[in-house]
Amino acid sequence: MTPTRPVWAEISRSALTHNFRLLQRLAGPSVELLAVVKANAYGHGLADCADTLASAGAQWFGITCVEEGVALRAVCPKARILVLSSVWHGEAETLLEHRLTPVAWEPPHLIQLEIAARTRGLSAGTVPIHLEIDTGMSRQGAQPQHLAPVLDSLGPGSPFIFEALMTHFHSPENEPLTQCQTSAFAEALAVSSGRGLHPRYLNAGSSAAFFHLANDPIADLAKSSGTHRMLRPGIALYGYAPNPETVSGLQPVLSWKTRVVSLREIAPGTTVGYDATFTAQRKTRLALLSLGYADGLSRSLSSRGSVLIRGQRAPIAGRISMDHTSVDVTDIAGVECGDEVVIIGQQNGQSITAADIAQQIGTIPYEVLCGISARVPRSMVE
Ligand SMILES: *Cc1c(COP(=O)(O)O)cnc(C)c1O
Repeated sequence: MTPTRPVWAEISRSALTHNFRLLQRLAGPSVELLAVVKANAYGHGLADCADTLASAGAQWFGITCVEEGVALRAVCPKARILVLSSVWHGEAETLLEHRLTPVAWEPPHLIQLEIAARTRGLSAGTVPIHLEIDTGMSRQGAQPQHLAPVLDSLGPGSPFIFEALMTHFHSPENEPLTQCQTSAFAEALAVSSGRGLHPRYLNAGSSAAFFHLANDPIADLAKSSGTHRMLRPGIALYGYAPNPETVSGLQPVLSWKTRVVSLREIAPGTTVGYDATFTAQRKTRLALLSLGYADGLSRSLSSRGSVLIRGQRAPIAGRISMDHTSVDVTDIAGVECGDEVVIIGQQNGQSITAADIAQQIGTIPYEVLCGISARVPRSMVE
């Protein structure tokens, strides 16, 4: 059944296209952009976003796992697709079948891939991999002291193409810390070159990198080593700068909306919602909204957040329930059942962003966007 419950997200094709083109312009034509569309495109909807980004010129995509890669392959038959979290047991065959490119950093990844490549009868030098180096994130990636055995399995005669040396920065806003990670990365590049192994790309830098391009240490390293540069923007594609102070020209892509489904007036002293945490101090007009924490509206916004109705801010009154939220519309004239309500987005020149919500509840816009649950239908708008 087509969704009829009044809660939905609108994904702006033009904003997504604008953001991708802006980032490509900032990076310059020689830099390859890998559009990160993991986690259902940060909650925006994988298929439509990937299709839009491909039309805007994206040739590389990053997703979390093989499952997401298979879903993306169905939409983008020609794209290069990088599986950021590598290959887990039993996934190598599927990965090769769908021409996904793994990030890899330890022998078990390469052993599985090698077996699957043999099974498929692939010849030497046909399976591209991106070799991740742990330069300080301590999450994924080969630690420098464990790099040698991994490089040993990449040499001539192996099924692999050493396509990229990759790393991830933990504090991209912090120049000295990033410089330190860059040195470790340069060291790993020197070790691989010393063994006659030369990647085509240096794959490093997330959205934050675009706002530090003027003094980007990886650019120098790419130049001196004759490699190409690959950057991996995620959050910036969806219109958010990783750092709230950055003025950027990015356009938020997602709007999240619902409707007023019921109205009531309560007398002073009446309480609202579970645990009766809100007590009306005056005669209060309440609007009931058709969404709750099961839709991804954080319960931490209870009696704290607000929404837009008729271009004005209506404060959330009391606890957010699983499927319902009450807002105080006493000060907004003429609210009617069926009025459109903006949770994230713009209305009559007013706006609420995922960054505003994140700040209110002590998190980052990434979590707010990814938290919009699967039962909220997403649709593309211009
Ligand atoms: C998620 C992710 C990115 C994108 O990061 P943003 O801050 O959203 O730009 C880049 N690289 C890796 C490895 C990631 O996991």
